[in-house]
Amino acid sequence: MNRVALLSRSANLAYFQPLLNAVDPGLEVVTWPDPACLRAEVAVCWNPPPGVYARMPALRLIHSIAAGVDNVLAGQDTRGLPVCRVVDPMLAQGMLQYVLWAVLHFHRKLDLAMANQRQAVWQRPCQQAAADFRVGLMGLGELGGLVAATLPGLGYAVNGWSRTPRDLPGIRMFSGADGYEPFLRQTDLLVCLLPLTEATRGILDRRTFAALPSGAAVVNCGRGEHLVAEDLIDALASGHLRGAVLDVFTQEPLAPDHPLWRTPGVVVTPHMATMASSETVAAQVLANIQRLRDGQALVNQVDLARGY
Ligand code: NDP
Repeated sequence: MNRVALLSRSANLAYFQPLLNAVDPGLEVVTWPDPACLRAEVAVCWNPPPGVYARMPALRLIHSIAAGVDNVLAGQDTRGLPVCRVVDPMLAQGMLQYVLWAVLHFHRKLDLAMANQRQAVWQRPCQQAAADFRVGLMGLGELGGLVAATLPGLGYAVNGWSRTPRDLPGIRMFSGADGYEPFLRQTDLLVCLLPLTEATRGILDRRTFAALPSGAAVVNCGRGEHLVAEDLIDALASGHLRGAVLDVFTQEPLAPDHPLWRTPGVVVTPHMATMASSETVAAQVLANIQRLRDGQALVNQVDLARGY
């Protein structure tokens, strides 16, 4: 197994070639749209061209360069081939830092202080104990799990919601469809750390927002397609929701005329919550190539039936 194709229609992944060849000089690494990509045995992907795997008869491994695989699977026939993703402690640590900032933004009422600054208003917001501020984490996987392991130690009341039941120390857990509304009703700050699947697409919609207590806020660090933007804008305009921190968007970059840029109470960041280093991604791809060569089980393989 010696040919690797770097496949993306939205980014130039050629920077992986020297990283892969530095460790395995025997690999032939080609970058889309080089036609040689279609002869590759390994596809390393971010937003690959639609239907491309079906045109790669020698393909044996599909590897995302990220934690998520939604854009690696969308519009593709994976033909039952293994699909792997990146799992990395530094990636989880970056997400923890981002979520912590968003928690502080709302819990310590920095959103109010910043809005007041724009009008030169000096007004100390009254503060609230962390124990009285309920953070609701949607998704308790590699990323949500670290956030869940950290926030209780900082005094926060933390609720978690996952697909399957879990028992996590210091966390009030909910799961599945039955647990969703009870989870939302007890959440002051809803943090989405879900993978994008058919079950989670559009989950941050008017029904979800209506079930949150009045004055709640939302953080989306999953995928843009989790959020129904018009529903968020309506919930903010009505005063039911207090604000939102958004890192991911259906169309990235977010168009300059998109209303979310200018919706009061919304903080927009450019998909920067966290990212694995190129070196880490290359090392994980190389390790899985070696496992495939040796006939060993792959690591961080995605369950295609679940979609994550
Ligand atoms: P994991 O696969 O490790 O964890 C996913 C979690 O979501 C699990 O707890 C899972 O439940 C839960 N889940 C999945 N489907 C459902 C559902 N239908 N209902 C309820 N819970 C569900 O993912 P990671 O933590 O590694 O990553 C999560 C996502 O974060 C990525 O897929 C990606 O989209 C996003 N991301 C964003 C980044 C950014 O910079 N903004 C960077 C990196 C990732 P269960 O435990 O029961 O399986």
